[in-house]
Amino acid sequence: METRTLAGRLVPVVGQGTWNMEGDDRASCVAALQAGIDAGMTHIDTAELYGWGKVEELVADALEGRRDQVFLASKVHPKNASRSKTVRACEQSLQRLRTDHLDLYLIHWRQDHPLAETFAALEELVQAGKIRAFGVSNFDVPDLRESLKLVGPGKLACNQVLYHLEQRGIEHAVIPWCRDNGVPIVGYSPFAVGRFVEADGEGAQVLGEIARAHGVTARQVALRFLLRDPIAFTIPKASKAAHVRDNAAAGELKLTEEDLRRINAAFPLARSTRNLPML
Ligand code: NAP
Repeated sequence: METRTLAGRLVPVVGQGTWNMEGDDRASCVAALQAGIDAGMTHIDTAELYGWGKVEELVADALEGRRDQVFLASKVHPKNASRSKTVRACEQSLQRLRTDHLDLYLIHWRQDHPLAETFAALEELVQAGKIRAFGVSNFDVPDLRESLKLVGPGKLACNQVLYHLEQRGIEHAVIPWCRDNGVPIVGYSPFAVGRFVEADGEGAQVLGEIARAHGVTARQVALRFLLRDPIAFTIPKASKAAHVRDNAAAGELKLTEEDLRRINAAFPLARSTRNLPML
């Protein structure tokens, strides 16, 4: 599995999402997350929002006896993003995850609380050893600029943003800004939340041809395309071990320039929109 630097650590380019796992078979999810860790997908992404704590508890079961093998990320919900509530929300996440620290803690998205307050809380959590690093999610360039001004260079561990073949909006401004400012991108919903490309469309045909040429699956090709920028990571969610193993194999795949050109043409970058696309 290829690794890249995230929050000062070498982290696998393909990690594991956990959104909506509270609605799936619990034993299957735990087994899938463990299969993912075995396959090198040691970056696990969760949030207090997911099943309002239920998913963090499920993740804790998967991490039993393996916490030290994993780069664990969670997120504070914007309603809890005041100075005191952020600290409390993090402590509650730690309790549910049955761990004494997070490797990464993100502001899930920006809402009402002033960023200065939330970042002060995040700095306090770092000082207390409860989180190793912090970052943001769903931040557009103006929010990123404001964040950088508040925390200073080298502090924002990542920006976690929507990124799949049919939603490449971050390529307009967010990726260039992040590249220029040394902020990695963690792309979420790489399979469009289970609505992966239309099976009978032209795009699927191109992915299929490339996949056959490399002896891999269309999803692995898609994930690899989303990793072509050296600051990028991706975190597909899978509740089934077979899916997880399929996704992990994308971490080794190498696409040619011609493959990238064909995928780029089959899933063209749409015009820039006023607001950053998010779920
Ligand atoms: P996704 O990863 O785009 O898609 C998940 C769906 O794809 C599930 O139905 C899964 O099936 C299926 N799948 C995964 N691998 C597969 C494979 N190899 N073959 C066939 N089907 C496969 O969806 P997502 O959950 O929206 O995004 C991933 C993660 O990003 C989330 O779980 C979450 O951690 C994060 N996220 C963050 C934000 C944010 O605001 N920061 C927003 C959305 C998501 P099974 O589950 O049945 O295996």
